[in-house]
Amino acid sequence: MSIAIESVSKNFGQFAALNDVTLKVPSGELVALLGPSGSGKTTLLRIIAGLETPDRGSILFNGEEATKRDVRERQVGFVFQHYALFRHMTVFDNIAFGLTVKPKKSRLGKGEIRDKVNTLLKLIQLENLFDRYPAQLSGGQRQRVALARALAVEPQVLLLDEPFGALDAKVRLELRRWLRRLHDEIHVTSVFVTHDQEEALEVADRIVVMNNGQIEQQGTPSEVYDRPATPFVFDFLGNVNLFQGRVHEGTMKMGGMELASPEHAASNDLPAIGYVRSHDIEIERFAFDASSIEAEVRYILSVGPLVRVDLALLGGEESIEVDLPRDVADKLSLQVGEKVFARPRKMRVFTHDYQI
Ligand code: ATP
Repeated sequence: MSIAIESVSKNFGQFAALNDVTLKVPSGELVALLGPSGSGKTTLLRIIAGLETPDRGSILFNGEEATKRDVRERQVGFVFQHYALFRHMTVFDNIAFGLTVKPKKSRLGKGEIRDKVNTLLKLIQLENLFDRYPAQLSGGQRQRVALARALAVEPQVLLLDEPFGALDAKVRLELRRWLRRLHDEIHVTSVFVTHDQEEALEVADRIVVMNNGQIEQQGTPSEVYDRPATPFVFDFLGNVNLFQGRVHEGTMKMGGMELASPEHAASNDLPAIGYVRSHDIEIERFAFDASSIEAEVRYILSVGPLVRVDLALLGGEESIEVDLPRDVADKLSLQVGEKVFARPRKMRVFTHDYQI
C-alpha cells in the first residue's frame, strides 16, 4: 500500500512539531525517517498510524483519503523501542495473539493459526524458541518476536519506531541487516524511525532527513550521503569538517588556501563555509597546489580499518579530523608533532544566506 502525506502540520500548543510536511512512500518501500531528537519523526509516524490527527493536511492510503480513518481501520503494524510482549505468554502465543482476538467470522481456524505462526517463527529464525517466555529471550530475540507479532495480522503498513534503540551495538547491527533481508522477502510498505544515520543508510530504500518539523532532504542513501542538499544534512550524515572563508566568482578562499567552487561562479565576496567529509581529505608532506593547507599532526587514533588523524591548521585555532585508509596511513607513517599539508579532495560550499 502506498502512503501519501500532503502538507501536514501539527502543533502542540505554540510548538510546531510538524510544519507543512509532504512525503510519498511508494508501495513496498522501506523508508527511514532520520533526524535528531525532537525533529518530529515520531509525530509523523503517529499521524500515519492514526494515533494523532494533523492540524492541517491529509494522509492518503493507496490514493484514498484516510486522514480521519480510525487507527483500527488503517491496518498498520507497530514495532516500538520497548515493545511490551505479554510476559505470561510464550513466544508462540505472543505471535498468535492478534489472530486469536479477531472477530469470530474473520478468525482463522486453530490449525491455520498454528501454520501461520510457524511460518513467522521461521521468518524470524526462532523456530526452536516457540515455547519460551519473553523473560527467557535476549533483547534482539524479543524485538524479532515483536516484529512477527506485528506481521501476523498481515498489516498493509509496518511502522517501526527506533525498534533497535534499546539494544547493544552488535545486536543492533545484526538486526538491521536481518530486517533489510526480511523486507526484501516480504515487501510490506514500511516506515522506520531512527536517529542513527548508519542504521538509516544501511536499512532504507529511501531516507527522509527531518529537522525542526520539516523535511530537509529525501532520497536514496547515496543521494543524501553523497549529495547533501543542506548544511544540516551534511553535518548530520557523517563526520564533517567546516572551513570558514569567503567565496568570490567561483573560488573559495580560506586563510591561505583556495579551492574552486564552480556552483558559486556568480558570488561576489560572500561569507561561506566549506563542508568536507573526514575521508575526503588527503594528507601530504608537500603542498600540492593552492588547495593545500599547512597543518600539524596533533593526535593519531589507529584502531580499526580507518586511521583517524587530528590536525591543527597552522595560522589559526581550527582543527580538522581526517580518516585515512590504513594502508595509506601506514605508507605515510605520520608522527605526532610533524608538519604536513592537508588537501580537501571534495568540498561543498554553502554561503551564509543559504536557505532550503
Ligand atoms: P525523538 O527521537 O526524541 O523521539 P522525534 O524526532 O521523534 O524525537 P517527536 O517525538 O515527533 O520527535 O517530537 C517533536 C516535538 O514535539 C518535540 O519537541 C516534542 O517535545 C513535541 N511533542 C511531541 N508530542 C507532544 C505532545 N503530546 N505534547 C506536547 N509536545 C509534544
